Amino acid sequence: MSSIQNHHHTHSLKDAASLLRSSGRFPDARWCPSPNFGPRPDGSSISLLVVHNISLPPEQFGGPHIENFFCNCLDTTAHPYFETIAELKVSAHALIRRDGSVIQFVSCLDRAWHAGRSSFQGEEECNDYSIGIELEGADEIPYTEDQYRALARLAQLVMTAWPEVTPGRIAGHSDIAPGRKTDPGPAFAWSRFQTMLSTEEMA
Ligand SMILES: [Zn+2]
Repeated sequence: MSSIQNHHHTHSLKDAASLLRSSGRFPDARWCPSPNFGPRPDGSSISLLVVHNISLPPEQFGGPHIENFFCNCLDTTAHPYFETIAELKVSAHALIRRDGSVIQFVSCLDRAWHAGRSSFQGEEECNDYSIGIELEGADEIPYTEDQYRALARLAQLVMTAWPEVTPGRIAGHSDIAPGRKTDPGPAFAWSRFQTMLSTEEMA
């Protein structure tokens, strides 16, 4: 890589991050607004990134069900499992599909409903101060290369936009709700992801 290219990448990351910081929107994400959000409490700053997984039906990929679920319009007749979650009102800021494409449901400036009862290093109510990103996946099924790359890109943007989010403040849902949640599961390669964060060429 030439230094000119590195220089260019540094600037495009910075520009995209400043847009993210002012608008709350991830660049290149498809906007699919969810009604499940609220304001962040006064005085809260964004200082945590939470990684999740979801698949609807469980362990099946593709289809419209995740985005319909986050938008409170899940077709509960489409699968028996859906009846068990029909009443839930939840969301995440973004979903990364198996092909690495990103769908955004809630502005990062707002409080999405992804963490539930949770705490990180003694600080409760992670939804107040975190950004939640879902990987379309399941605990025991390997994530795709495209998903790691997309997540690393989003994490880089978040860390640049809100420097309180550091590599040490990227956690799994299972880390902030132990005993209650298991995602993103053993399939998520944390060391590989952390290595990508520090070395990946973020175009
Ligand atoms: Zn989760």
